[in-house]
Amino acid sequence: MKLNILVTGGAGFIGSNYLNYKSKDDNIRIINLDKLTYAADLDNIDIYDNCDYTFTKGDICDLNLVERIFEEYNINRVVHFAAESHVDNSIANPGEFIQTNIVGTFNLLQAAFKNWMDTPNIFKKGKEDCRFLHISTDEVYGTLGETGLFTEETPYAPNSPYSASKASSDMLVRSYFHTYGLPVVTTNCSNNYGPRQHNEKLIPTIIRKALAEENIPIYGDGKNVRDWLYVLDHCKGIDLALEKGELGETYNIGGKNERENIYIAKTICKTLDIIKPLKDNKSYLDLITFVKDRPGHDFRYAIDASKIENELGWNAEENFESGIEKTINWYLEKYQ
Ligand code: NAD
Repeated sequence: MKLNILVTGGAGFIGSNYLNYKSKDDNIRIINLDKLTYAADLDNIDIYDNCDYTFTKGDICDLNLVERIFEEYNINRVVHFAAESHVDNSIANPGEFIQTNIVGTFNLLQAAFKNWMDTPNIFKKGKEDCRFLHISTDEVYGTLGETGLFTEETPYAPNSPYSASKASSDMLVRSYFHTYGLPVVTTNCSNNYGPRQHNEKLIPTIIRKALAEENIPIYGDGKNVRDWLYVLDHCKGIDLALEKGELGETYNIGGKNERENIYIAKTICKTLDIIKPLKDNKSYLDLITFVKDRPGHDFRYAIDASKIENELGWNAEENFESGIEKTINWYLEKYQ
C-alpha cells in the first residue's frame, strides 16, 4: 500500500527534519500542511528530488481544508507536529495556543475519523491500516525535583499555557481511541536540539548571541535541567512509533542527556573558543549573563524512555556532546 502521509507543521523545526529524513523512503507521498507562522521556514525543507511531495499553506484550524486534504490525497498516515511551541509566547499570548494546539488537533482527529471510519470501531473498506501519530511533549508531566524520571504513567500536571494546551490535545487523542477506536499513537518527547531550530529557542540563541558578541541571556541561576534529544534521533523514534507503536499507547522519547542550562551555555562557549576564537584571548564565556527567571519555570525534566527502547527497539544514537558539535557547525554556517 502506498503511504499517503499528511505531515502537519512540516516547515517548523522537527517537522522539517522529519520530512528531510523521511523523503528518502520509496513508495510514499508526503503532503505538508503548514500555516507558515513566524516559526516556519520553507528553506528548512531539503527533501530528496524524487520524493512525491506536495506543500499546502493552510491552517489546521480550518476543518473544511483539513477534510478536503484527507479526501483529495487519500490520507492513510498523519504525523501531527503543527503547534504553537514556545513557552514564553504562551505566557504572553495564550489564545493562539488554545486554537492551534487544541482546536487544530481536534479538527485533525475529527477529519481522520470521518475519512477512515463509518462508525465507532468500524473502518471504511481499505482504511483498516490507517494510523495517526500525535507528537507531544514531556512538559505535560509538569516538573521534577532533583531525582526521578517521567514515565508514561506519570500523572499529567502541566504548568504553562503551552503545556496545558498540549496536555489537552493528548487527552483528545486518547479519547478518540477509547470512544471511536481511531488508530492513534502519541509520543511525548524531551527538549529537541539540532539543525533548523527557530532563533528564539535556547541553543540557537546562545550560538547567535555568542557570534554577535552580545550578552548570552540565561534564566535565573541556570540550574534548570532539560533532557536533550538530538532531532534526528527523535525523527527515527517518530517513525517507529508511527508504524510499530501499539494503537492507543503513548511512548516517551528522551535522549538520557540531562544537562543544566548553564552547562549548555558553557559547552557552546568553550567549543566556540576553540573553533572560532575571539581576539585578544577573550572567551565567549564572559558573555554569559543571568536574567530574571521565566514565571512558572519548571525546574527539571527527565525522561524514562525504556518503553520505546524495549518494545520498539529505539535508542538515541547521539549523546549531547556529539550532537551539540554538529549543531554548532550547522549554525556557524547559517549565521555567517
Ligand atoms: P516549531 O514551532 O518549530 O514549528 C511548528 C510548525 O507548525 C511551524 O512550521 C508553524 O508554521 C506550524 N503551525 C503552527 N500553527 C499552525 C496551524 N494552526 N496550522 C498549520 N501549521 C501550523 O515547533 P517544533 O519545535 O518543530 O515542534 C513540533 C512539535 O513537537 C510540536 O507539537 C511541539 O509541541 C512538539 N515538541 C517540540 C519539542 C522541541 O524541543 N522543539 C519538544 C517536545 C515536543
